[in-house]
Amino acid sequence: MVRAQRPLVAAVATVAAARIATTALRPRSPVPTPPRGARPGAGRGAIEAESYFTADQLHRVRRYRRPQALLGAGETALQLAVLWRLARRRPAAPATTVAPGEDAAPPVRAPSVAERHPVLAGALAGATTLLATGAAPLPLAALARHRAVRAGLATGTWRLWATDLARAAALEAAAGAALGAGTVALVRRDPTGWWRPAAGVGVGASAALTFAAPLLIEPLFSRSRPVEDEELVADLRAIAGRAGVRLRAVLVSDASRRTTAVNAYVSGFGRSRRVVFWDTLLEGFGARETRMVVAHELSHVVHRDVPRSLVFLALVAAPAAAATAALAELLTPDGAGAPGRTRSGDPLPVSVPAVLLAGAAAGLLPATEMARLSRAIERRADAEALGWTGDPGALIGFFQRIAVTNVGDPDPRGVGRLLHDLLGTHPTVLERIGAAVAHADAHGIALPPAAPVVALPAGAD
Ligand SMILES: [Zn+2]
Repeated sequence: MVRAQRPLVAAVATVAAARIATTALRPRSPVPTPPRGARPGAGRGAIEAESYFTADQLHRVRRYRRPQALLGAGETALQLAVLWRLARRRPAAPATTVAPGEDAAPPVRAPSVAERHPVLAGALAGATTLLATGAAPLPLAALARHRAVRAGLATGTWRLWATDLARAAALEAAAGAALGAGTVALVRRDPTGWWRPAAGVGVGASAALTFAAPLLIEPLFSRSRPVEDEELVADLRAIAGRAGVRLRAVLVSDASRRTTAVNAYVSGFGRSRRVVFWDTLLEGFGARETRMVVAHELSHVVHRDVPRSLVFLALVAAPAAAATAALAELLTPDGAGAPGRTRSGDPLPVSVPAVLLAGAAAGLLPATEMARLSRAIERRADAEALGWTGDPGALIGFFQRIAVTNVGDPDPRGVGRLLHDLLGTHPTVLERIGAAVAHADAHGIALPPAAPVVALPAGAD
């Protein structure tokens, strides 16, 4: 096969595998969602953002979100530019030592440190590559945070922000070192077929990280404790009983140290599984909304949605690894494959920065399918939460308030809409409100007339 064709073939295989994985893993019973602007019930108006949010609220979120999205795109572009520079770097001329008076003899090249300790050099290359990539967009990230503080969304000091960044950088360096060392070790063993074991190791490492993250990584960025409100816990256990799951750890984390935003999530699996609420949710919302959120999270537990994402990864890992290897080979300048050499003394076919850049590119291939699967899973979680609580009014009120609190666009348009359709992991807030309205109509549940919520969070302009 022509050298340039291999990445293309592997890329097509990755997209096809992602498509198959989405089809195999998506919820069996499709959850009906009324299209935007559709009329879910007889006599009810169309679901329009203007019915649920004031013009001021919509103006405020868009004025905040659009530049924030541009800053995010700028950060990604800078990171890719740094990766590109590092991946395309040509090797320095090899150091040679020539004994005096022996001009005619072929030069004897001293083995470099990288050649003597290739796996260690790979670890160093991986760590420095990811650190440089992470450092490049820092000015843009600081500007984005400044805007978030002004919008009343980010709280906490710049010092805490810097501490978080330092911790994240340490994690990135560790991840880069593991990726670099692993890549060099596998490429040295098998310069052409190294991507096969790499795919297996990658899936295993992702599963281990998903299991360990709640125990090892989350505590670095937030402190959590069991929910103390006994009435709430009893209520949650009752919903869990209805859902048919045993509720293990229900925790509340100190997110308010960093943000006014509201969230809840399930992380880990097996013994590490937990439902975590941000304290901003428990403090700012009533029992009806909290029950709705819990019911939504329980749906993720019932259907094992965390392990499900690992299965998706396992299904696309092999072609994605093949695409990474083929693209990395194409990106690595001749002779720059490094660190180290094959057993027969040839330079390795890929460099560590090229593998990291190629991996980032290959990771985008299944991203759209993964987002599509995620949106379907989230729609099911909302539908089940509505079924278990029978309270669509609470869901509508909750989404109205979090769109305002999180300064999130309930109904992105234009480029924002396109990005959402490609990469959005959740349905839009307006789609979720529409699903709740449709549920109410289908079950004859009376809803108050659609009206915006007017209270803005503290710090809002
Ligand atoms: Zn969810």
